[in-house]
Amino acid sequence: MHSLGTGTSAPRKAKSESDSGALKTNRKEDRAPAKSPLVRPFVERRRGRPFEHAWHEALETVHRLLVRYEEANQNLIEAAESYRSFFENAPIGIFRASADGAPLLVNGAMAKLCGYASTEQMLAQVPHLDEHVFAERGQWQSLFRRIQENGTLYGFETEVKILDGTTKWVLLNVCPVREGRKIVHVEGTAEDITDRKKSEERIRQLAYYDVVTGLPNRPLFEERLAEAIAGAEPANQRVALLLLELDRFKMINDSLGKVFGDRLLQEIAQRIRTVLDGEITIARLGGAEFAIILPDVKAISDVQQVVRWLLTAVSAEFSFLGHSFNVSSTMGISMFPEHGRDGHILMERADVAMYSAKEKGANEFQFFSEGINHQIRERLRLENDLRLALERNELFLVYQPQIDTRTGDVSGLEALLRWQHPEIGLIPPNDFIGVAESTGLIVPIGEWVLRTACAQARKWQDAGLPAVPVAVNVSAIQLRQPGFCELICRILKETGLNPKYLELELTEGLLMTNVDVMFTLIQDLRALGVKLTIDDFGTGYSSLNYLRQFKVNRLKIDRSFVREVPVNADDAAITTAIINMAKALNLDVLAEGVENVEQLDFLRAQNCFEIQGYYFSKPMAVDQIEKKLQSSFVH
Ligand code: C2E
Ligand code: MG
Ligand code: MG
Repeated sequence: MHSLGTGTSAPRKAKSESDSGALKTNRKEDRAPAKSPLVRPFVERRRGRPFEHAWHEALETVHRLLVRYEEANQNLIEAAESYRSFFENAPIGIFRASADGAPLLVNGAMAKLCGYASTEQMLAQVPHLDEHVFAERGQWQSLFRRIQENGTLYGFETEVKILDGTTKWVLLNVCPVREGRKIVHVEGTAEDITDRKKSEERIRQLAYYDVVTGLPNRPLFEERLAEAIAGAEPANQRVALLLLELDRFKMINDSLGKVFGDRLLQEIAQRIRTVLDGEITIARLGGAEFAIILPDVKAISDVQQVVRWLLTAVSAEFSFLGHSFNVSSTMGISMFPEHGRDGHILMERADVAMYSAKEKGANEFQFFSEGINHQIRERLRLENDLRLALERNELFLVYQPQIDTRTGDVSGLEALLRWQHPEIGLIPPNDFIGVAESTGLIVPIGEWVLRTACAQARKWQDAGLPAVPVAVNVSAIQLRQPGFCELICRILKETGLNPKYLELELTEGLLMTNVDVMFTLIQDLRALGVKLTIDDFGTGYSSLNYLRQFKVNRLKIDRSFVREVPVNADDAAITTAIINMAKALNLDVLAEGVENVEQLDFLRAQNCFEIQGYYFSKPMAVDQIEKKLQSSFVH
C-alpha cells in the first residue's frame, strides 16, 4: 500500500510529486492540508520526520514563492509603465470621454492638437468637447448617435477650435466602452488632417473655381444650374439663365497684355457682384463669358431690369494700370421652363440668344426665341458650310469690266467672289463675307481670291489678250494679318503677274482705324508696285488730310451716290465734289454702279471717264471676259 512509503525517513524533496500522489489516500488526516509545503513540517513531524528539515524546506518554498510574486509584480509594473509611455508619447491624439462628451483622459498629442500646453491644462479647461473643442455645436451628439447606432465610428472628420482661436481639421476613430448594453464612455484617436484638408480644398478650388476671378467655373456653374432647376420644378418657379460676354476682349488681352486682361475680368466680376444679391450664382465660364442664375423669377420685366443694370455697370468707365477706357458687353437670356427644362439646353439657348444680341450691337441683350433659333441655326450652318467651301471648290470668281468711256475699252476688271452652295444655290458675297470675317475664314478665302485673280490675269496675258489690271477686294481682317505685304509679294512671284496689274480695293473705314499701321502698310504695298484704290468712297469718314498722306492711286465713288445723280441734287453735288477732289489730289477716279445713260452723261460732264456698272457689263464668267477683252480692243 502507498502508506508503506511514508514510513521511511529519507528526505523526499525530489519525490514531492509522488508524495503528494501518496497523500491522495482516503485517509482523512492525509488529505488536502498535506499538499501545502507550509504545513508540511507539521505533517512530517506527526509522521516522525525531523522537524527542522521540514521547516527548512518550507522556508525555501516561501522564498521561492516570494521571488515569483516579486517577478510577476515587476512584470506588471513594467507593462503598465510601457502602456503609459505608449499612451503619453503616442504621436496621435488619444482620449477617453464620458457619454455626454466630457473629456476624462487625454494624452499629450491630444492636448497639443487642441493647443494646450499639457494634458492637465486641457482637462482643467475643457469641461465639454462639444462646447470647447468642436468648432460646430452639436457635433458630439451626432458623433455619439452614430456610435450608438453602429458601434465603432471610423473616419469621422470634424473641425476643432484651437486655444489660439484658429481651427484645425481632425479625423476621429471612436469606439464605445459598454457596461452591459449601456455606453459608459467612449475612447478614440484624433489625427490632425488640416494639411490634407487644405490640399483637398485647393484641388476643389482649382477644379471648381476660376483662378482669375475666384468665381465658380463652368463645371460648378452647371451643377448649380441643375440644382436651381431641380428646386424650381416642384415649387413651380421660373429661373433665368443670363450669359454676359465682353465685346472685343481678345483684342484687349492681345494688345494690352494678360495682366491687364485679368485685371479687367476681376473688375467686371466685382461689378456684377455689386449689382446682384450675395446668394445669386455668378460664374466665369471661360474667356470673357460670365453666367448668372436668377432664381424664382416673378416677371420677365424683373429680369430685363437686372440685365439693364448689369450692362450699365459693365459699360461704365474703367480706370486702372494707367488706362481709362470703356468696354461694352452683350447678353443672352434663356428661361426655365419655357425655353428648356434641362441645364444644357438652357445654356445652348442662352448662347443662341447671345449670338443674336451680338448682331444687334454693343450693350444689347436678347431673350431666346424660336425665331432667332432658326436664324442662328441657318447662320451656323452657313459658317460650317463655308469652312468646307474652299476644299470642295464651291467658290469661284466673276469679273466685272471697268470701261474707259473715252475709248470704250476695258481699262480694268474687278474680281468678285461667288459661292455655288450645293443646296442653297448661288450665294452673293454680301450674304457670306460677314460670316467669313467673323469666323476668320476670310483669311484663307481672301488668299485664294488673290491667288486665283492674279493667276487668271496672267493667264489672259499669256493667251495674248490685252493686259489690264485686275482689282481684288481686300477685307480689313486680311490687311491686319501680319505679313500681308509678304503674302502679296509671294503670290505675285508665284503667278508671275507684274505688280502693276494688281489693284487692291480697300475701304475708308479700314484705313482710318489704326492709321499709323495702315500708313506703313500702304507705303510698303506701293513700293511693291501694286495699285491701291479706296472702294465705296463717300460712305466712310475719310479725313482729307489722311487722304493726302495715304497716297492711294484712285477713288471709287460709291454707287449709292451714282444711283441718284440725275435726280438728287445733293448726290450730284457730292459726286462732283469727289471727282474734283480726286483731280486736285492727283488721284484717278472711277464711278461704280452706272446703270443708265443719264448717270453716264452726268459723270462724263464732270470729267469722270472711268465707269463700272451694269450699263456696260454685269460681272462675267472667265470665258465671257475673254471675249469681252478681245472685242473691246478691236476698233
Ligand atoms: P464692291 O466691291 O463695291 O463691288 C461692287 C458691287 O456692286 C458688286 O456686287 C457688283 O456686282 C455690284 N455692281 C456693279 N455694278 C452695278 C450696277 O450697275 N448696279 C448694281 N445694283 N450693282 C452693281 P457683288 O459682286 O455682289 O459684291 C458685293 C460686295 O461684296 C463688293 O462690293 C465687295 O465689297 C464684296 N466682295 C465681293 N468679292 C469680294 C472678295 O473677294 N473679297 C472681299 N473681301 N469682298 C468682296
Ligand atoms: Mg470693290
Ligand atoms: Mg464698291
